[in-house]
Amino acid sequence: MPVEILTVPCRSDNYAFLIHNSETDETALVDAPEAAPIITALEGKGWSLNTILITHHHDDHIDGVAALKSKYGCVIVGAATDAHRLPPLDMEVAEGDPLSVAGHSVEVIDVSGHTVGHIAFYIPDANAVFTADSLMALGCGRLFEGDAPMMWKSLSKLAALPKETVVCSGHEYTAANARFALTVDPANEALQKRAAAITEARAAGNPTVPSFLSDELATNPFLRPADPAIRSNLGMEGASDTEVFAEIRSRKDRF
Ligand code: ZN
Ligand code: FE
Repeated sequence: MPVEILTVPCRSDNYAFLIHNSETDETALVDAPEAAPIITALEGKGWSLNTILITHHHDDHIDGVAALKSKYGCVIVGAATDAHRLPPLDMEVAEGDPLSVAGHSVEVIDVSGHTVGHIAFYIPDANAVFTADSLMALGCGRLFEGDAPMMWKSLSKLAALPKETVVCSGHEYTAANARFALTVDPANEALQKRAAAITEARAAGNPTVPSFLSDELATNPFLRPADPAIRSNLGMEGASDTEVFAEIRSRKDRF
């Protein structure tokens, strides 16, 4: 079934995503950092808005929900466990619940860590996963509520998706993430190349999101705690993947 994904830059460094089915003329939105640029994008395409999928409760992902709801009367979908701190939900979901949006089946994945209750949406028809502040381009979200074992479990689920999956994440943090990644994995040639491409893209004012899961697997240190070179750099050859992940995350917090 035909599916088009449109990236909508919002606020200073957020991304929202529109998912459009041209056969049914239905459109879904993942996250609403603010309403105005999303309305502009919808009107530019001549689309209405049927559904909003919310990943987590932070303001920079939900501030536009109320205005979009009143303009379009769209269905608001979010995590049942976070219903108390999300805008009013029309549909509450949990991992594994069957969900169909804009004519496409959507898999809900619990990716707690940044917050407890953060969910991701995987759309096999679109080869895309919407990860917000869980897996990010060359990074992962800061652990505000969960801990490292929780985030590692969440990232492991995303890492197991098909390698050709497009990762639609929530922020343009990639240049800073690249600078940090090079401190733990400096000899990784794929990372060096990607970091150079990111510098070039940002200098030209181009987004670095979305990204391919295959590139994240090859270059994102938060998906690579099993990598021997990273382990040796950290002096953690005998540690568990979770322990190495925790060390990488805490180094990034101090970076
Ligand atoms: Zn957040
Ligand atoms: Fe965010």
